[in-house]
Amino acid sequence: MTRSFSIPISRRDLFKLAGLTAAGVMLSGSSEGLPEAEAAEKISGETIKYAGKKIPVLYDVDVCVCGGGPSGTAAAISAARNGAKVVLLERGVALGGMAVLGCVYPFMETHAPNSDTPYVAEIKQRLREKGIEPYDGVTQQVWHNPEILALIYDEMCEETGVNILYETVLVDALISGKKITTAIIQTIAGLAAVRAKTFIDSTGDAYLARHTGVEYERGYEKTGNNQPMSFRFEMGGIDLDRLYQYVVVELGETWCKSDLPYLEIAEAMHRKQRYKLEELMARGVETGELTQEEAEYMQAYHIIGKDGVMSCNFPEIPVKFKSTDPVDYSRAVTYGRKMLHNMAGYLIRHLPGFENAYISREAVMLGARESWRIRGKYYLVEDDYHNQSRFEDAVCRTAWFIDAHGEKVSEKLPKGGYYEIPYRALISDKVSNLIVSGRCISASFILQASMRIQPTCMSIGEAAGIAAAYGLKNNIAANQIDWAKIPARQRSYVSEG
Ligand SMILES: Cc1cc2nc3c(=O)[nH]c(=O)nc-3n(C[C@H](O)[C@H](O)[C@H](O)COP(=O)(O)OP(=O)(O)OC[C@H]3O[C@@H](n4cnc5c(N)ncnc54)[C@H](O)[C@@H]3O)c2cc1C
Repeated sequence: MTRSFSIPISRRDLFKLAGLTAAGVMLSGSSEGLPEAEAAEKISGETIKYAGKKIPVLYDVDVCVCGGGPSGTAAAISAARNGAKVVLLERGVALGGMAVLGCVYPFMETHAPNSDTPYVAEIKQRLREKGIEPYDGVTQQVWHNPEILALIYDEMCEETGVNILYETVLVDALISGKKITTAIIQTIAGLAAVRAKTFIDSTGDAYLARHTGVEYERGYEKTGNNQPMSFRFEMGGIDLDRLYQYVVVELGETWCKSDLPYLEIAEAMHRKQRYKLEELMARGVETGELTQEEAEYMQAYHIIGKDGVMSCNFPEIPVKFKSTDPVDYSRAVTYGRKMLHNMAGYLIRHLPGFENAYISREAVMLGARESWRIRGKYYLVEDDYHNQSRFEDAVCRTAWFIDAHGEKVSEKLPKGGYYEIPYRALISDKVSNLIVSGRCISASFILQASMRIQPTCMSIGEAAGIAAAYGLKNNIAANQIDWAKIPARQRSYVSEG
């Protein structure tokens, strides 16, 4: 029997779920309910009944990937390359998730030797081919360019035949026994459905997993807090040479090791590390131009290919705003935007190099570092980091330090050290045809603070896509796949033990 796991959904709730603030178009439809997705009818003509309405089935595919962030995009492309017919659902109008919609930049380095899986290496190569040299010659972090990255992702999806549904929000799922059969989606034309054999939840928020009965957690078990969110943005019109002269030469800051144009500035009052710009920010508190909250954290990176533009990793919004509470989350947007403008104004007035700077772009996705995480077949914990755990079914390796803002920041692992992420952290006993990828896999709050960086999320997504296609070809349920039994040449990562 097919059943929906959502509570019967009202129009008002649906709008909330879909994140639609300006629902004018929808409200102008019949008062009986949402209009049908007309464009979709042209594709298949097939309909199903959902919440008392007839809705079109847009696709019937092998793999439906929900969320087009670093991890979901990797999953979709990898599944397609391995022969699966794929649909990728994304609520924004660009792939890349935090890296593009959230203005998060650059990809942090894993600090693990040889951690690049083929997909990650390919992204770097494609950036280079488009004139973005991702390496600064000193660190291993990847200085990408959000617009170029979005273009690369579109191109890769086109090449591999991934069908992207943009401005499409996963709102619900139909399940039969232990299997998801159908994703219910909010498209630009209205409610619709996508049928698939295997689903990959790459929403970052474990949205599909939570709504289909998979156990989950949120926040830090000790405090109940989620990691703080940030409202990231970009500033243009910066005189980079003047900024370098002031911060590196005059103040003598040694934090940024690379040379122009690869320039990073930073300060973080809650860290042990003391930064030269801390004094400037503290002065803002003394003069009443900045609040203590605003002065606490500031970090910005020059964006390669965007002259005089920096990606701003601030403001950090106080933890009282939870990333898992829709009301808090929305208030955090307003609160964060105010902080953002105040901090930008302060830098323009006081930081040499910023005299003619301006806010050139705001993120269209709030920066939630952590929200919900599944409890899967394997639960990664802090000890896995310190013990440098290895797994037969490992899908990638990483060693980014534990970076739980405001809660815990660990020492880095010794040089050459790393831990692995097992395939079992991507699956659960509850749903047989679901793989979870990205920052919401089965990991404790503290461990997640290490594995959440973009290259690691990409490698996890890559493995999820490969596993999904392999399972379908070999008639093995996604949650029964033994990654170690997939022929080594088909795997993106093989553990050295
Ligand atoms: C403020 C901040 C700073 C960070 N700094 C760095 C850094 O410097 N370097 C680094 O490597 N990492 C950094 N990270 C971490 C990293 O960016 C994320 O952990 C990573 O992007 C997670 O990838 P993901 O694919 O799991 O999820 P996301 O990047 O969150 O992507 C999820 C995607 O799913 C879509 N989606 C969600 N729900 C739905 C739905 N219901 N229907 C349809 N689509 C949906 C979203 O629109 C999004 O595109 C930072 C994170 C934050 C928040």
